[in-house]
Amino acid sequence: MKHQPKTPSRNPAWTRDELILALNLYLECNGAFPAKGDARVQELSDLLNKFWRLQGYSGATLRNTNGVAMKLMNFRVHDPKYAELKGLKAGNKLEKEVWEEFANQPDDLKKTAQAICDIIQNPQEAEEALAPEQEIEAEAVEGQLLTHLHVRRERSKKLIAQKKKAVLENLGQLVCEACGFDFQKRYGERGAGFIECHHTKPLSDLPEERTTRLSDLALLCANCHRMIHAKRPWLSIPDLRDMIKKASQPH
Ligand SMILES: [Zn+2]
Ligand SMILES: [Zn+2]
Repeated sequence: MKHQPKTPSRNPAWTRDELILALNLYLECNGAFPAKGDARVQELSDLLNKFWRLQGYSGATLRNTNGVAMKLMNFRVHDPKYAELKGLKAGNKLEKEVWEEFANQPDDLKKTAQAICDIIQNPQEAEEALAPEQEIEAEAVEGQLLTHLHVRRERSKKLIAQKKKAVLENLGQLVCEACGFDFQKRYGERGAGFIECHHTKPLSDLPEERTTRLSDLALLCANCHRMIHAKRPWLSIPDLRDMIKKASQPH
């Protein structure tokens, strides 16, 4: 399914997925401006062009090497090595978020960047990730590729069945781990056995050879699951529990 370009005359804003790739290269370059003709910049430019062409964008300046190199330099505003730039430039909110999430975790960043790269290189999976029905609110602009990988991990029918079975054997009921909602109690027979699974581990914690463990999955009601993914950064289950508790206290 192809997206229609929304503003074909302008290049699209950088998504979170793209900024993760850019930050990875920035750290590889140690914050230096890449030399003209740097193969890594060319490679990233080619990859991002592939990503946007899948969505119907094109154009000579679309993520060209110059644009990619300039984008890397945006991270200097957040880099303590370039503290003199602080305050001079406001910087972009999404860039700041990506910097804060990954700048001190170069290994996690590398793995996450590799996962994004792999999905773009696989046209079938990329199309699936970019299909509108895959969107979680607010993810369209921020980066659907990583979200797609997350959702795919928590929608494995086999794993979900195993997780529910294990919890039922242990606790005798399926309730939301954040708010305690019980679908069967609320909806009767129709709600029996109904609950969603959320994957609690970031993608970078899962090397290829390690498959999801049942303990990586949490059971959540549909509302709580939505709340976790409604905004970046995604909430942990303890954070969501605290939030619910706080919101229910009298003001
Ligand atoms: Zn809940
Ligand atoms: Zn989830």
